[in-house]
Amino acid sequence: MTFTSEEKIDILSLFPDEIASLMAELGEPKYRAKQIFTWLHRGKGLSEMTDIPKKLREKLEEKCIFKLPEIEQKLVSKIDGTIKYLWRLYDGNTVESVFMRYKHGNTVCISSQVGCRMGCAFCASTIGGKVRDLAASEMLGQIIATELDTGEKVSGVVMMGIGEPLDNYDNSVRFLRLVNEKDGLCIGHRHISLSTCGIVPKIYELAEQDMQITLSISLHAYDNDTRSSLMPVNKKWDVYTLLEACYNYFEKTGRRISFEYTLISSKNDSAENAYELASLLNKTLRRGASPMPIHVNLIPVNPVSGKGFTSSDKNAVNTFAAVLEKHGINATVRRKLGADINASCGQLRRKNAQKD
Ligand code: SAH
Repeated sequence: MTFTSEEKIDILSLFPDEIASLMAELGEPKYRAKQIFTWLHRGKGLSEMTDIPKKLREKLEEKCIFKLPEIEQKLVSKIDGTIKYLWRLYDGNTVESVFMRYKHGNTVCISSQVGCRMGCAFCASTIGGKVRDLAASEMLGQIIATELDTGEKVSGVVMMGIGEPLDNYDNSVRFLRLVNEKDGLCIGHRHISLSTCGIVPKIYELAEQDMQITLSISLHAYDNDTRSSLMPVNKKWDVYTLLEACYNYFEKTGRRISFEYTLISSKNDSAENAYELASLLNKTLRRGASPMPIHVNLIPVNPVSGKGFTSSDKNAVNTFAAVLEKHGINATVRRKLGADINASCGQLRRKNAQKD
């Protein structure tokens, strides 16, 4: 596995048993793999691995590459201490992460691609399309570099930054397994959420992975016309096909699914819209022997310049949530962290690009 033109091995993307194979290839004892894995996941480069013989470090230096993302820009919220990072990757591309402090621990929202090709109408990340996928090491790197910068442990991850994780499926799954490794960051899958716009075949594949992560579905509309106008992906896999995949995911994993619903003024935010949404979810997901517990996370849209969407007012948001609750759907309004630093996805990278 390589991620540079130098054809070197991207060692932070390797599992312990893959590092062990590398040790065997180099004629080194296998137990070195665990030591090296732990050093890497603490953000230590090969030259800093004090209990690894110099000869081996030199051999690895020649064969492998290890580069964490570097801070291009860092914004700290004066309101709640949320930190937004714009990272510079090894090739000069940039992605964003957000570090959030909750009572139950620190969570990092990470990016999975440079840009995005999904084309959602309200989203800043998709302007300019997809540049490239991130390697698993570059997803891990965002967490490791955040821990190094803050000096604080990260105990939760959300894959809700720039990019569509299921459009970079293999690297995302590799990342999810690596981040859970006991000799690495050891972050429990139950503390990890993956958000998708709805790449249906990959939702079926993910259900077979036997991971206890939380799946978040960016729904944003209950009818195909509105959803297709907001999210081009809906033209390929429509609302009903998507909800069928969600039901299968729940049946296979036993994990409840969280639905993201962005509230856009006069587009999808009326009390009637809330009723229709509740009816659809109840009809399609609460059936059979195991009705699925449903959670809807309401997000007043974050206006992105040039997109022409206005956020719903507080009254509309509260009414929408109340109607969902009345029809048996658990609803929360996303707590806005880092409101003063533009903490929603893609906006910082976009601004930085406009500077050039
Ligand atoms: N591609 C994935 C993850 C990235 S976006 C997905 O689509 O789920 C993370 C969440 O933020 C998604 O629910 C997305 O629809 C939402 N989002 C994007 N831009 C937004 C904006 N301007 N205002 C509010 N939510 C937004």
